Amino acid sequence: MVPTPLTVRAPAKVNLHLGVGDVRPDGFHELVTVFQALSLHDDVTLTPADALTLHVTGEGVRDVPTDPTNLAARAVVALAERYGRDPNMRIDIAKGIPVAGGMAGGSADAAAALLGAATLWGLDIGRGELDEVAATLGSDVPFSLHGHTALGTGRGERLIPALARGEFHWTLALAREGLSTPAVYHELDRLREAGDPPRAGSPDELLAAVASGDPHRLAPLLANDLQAAALSLQPGLRRTLRAGLEAGALAGIVSGSGPTCAFLCASAEDAVDVGTELAGAGVCRTVRVASGPVPGATVVP
Ligand code: ATP
Repeated sequence: MVPTPLTVRAPAKVNLHLGVGDVRPDGFHELVTVFQALSLHDDVTLTPADALTLHVTGEGVRDVPTDPTNLAARAVVALAERYGRDPNMRIDIAKGIPVAGGMAGGSADAAAALLGAATLWGLDIGRGELDEVAATLGSDVPFSLHGHTALGTGRGERLIPALARGEFHWTLALAREGLSTPAVYHELDRLREAGDPPRAGSPDELLAAVASGDPHRLAPLLANDLQAAALSLQPGLRRTLRAGLEAGALAGIVSGSGPTCAFLCASAEDAVDVGTELAGAGVCRTVRVASGPVPGATVVP
């Protein structure tokens, strides 16, 4: 018997490398990315009920839909349809991941809901089948299931685990306003039509740096093709990035499509110091410290 309610924890991600290729015929961009899962997380609790309902608390709750468009609800419905189950349940989401922050918060909730529903229903399926459903829900959902550090290709949904030694320490500057991921991709397309902004290139050196566990080696290799577009839409982020470096971070980067800025620090103590300085500088809404890599979606005992 699976104890209910059942809680699944799923991590935020940062893209250490995000190379955006050309637009494919299906409208998606071809990506080469290196994800790292961070200790910032959402908790999704599932309780069997007579109807499918959603309740959201925590970070950015006003901007999270509580109707069937919520990615956690879509995950439960997709899995129920595929395996002939009853999707009725109460879904409680405790958000710790910033909403529309470029940290895959919705994807984390979808991954947590998938693993939770599969566990609740006792589905005898492997990670491969869960991955297939995950990829239909969003490009980042398979990574949210797997966590750790991984190379992603295609839309980011095809994953190869990457070796990471030790622990990396991050300070995250959360922005006042979110950014829509499609809007950031459109802005990148516009910038590329107008000129030829530099591209991230190959992630090979960065993968070697991650495997070495040396944050000083990793820092200059962080790269994000979406950063120019995010800065173009929210120019104030330049100040945030500058403030993090001045506070002693080894490097700062816009996380995914932004606007969260992620700062790589030399130690856990440095990450706290950088966070304190950033909070005092008034260049962001709030700060968090986090470390990575951490596992993907996990049932909380
Ligand atoms: P990514 O990094 O994967 O591009 P993001 O972290 O920038 O995404 P999300 O927090 O996933 O952005 O939210 C994007 C939008 O998705 C939100 O504005 C919200 O309307 C919608 N959404 C649907 N379900 C959820 C959910 N469970 N949590 C947060 N947002 C959700």
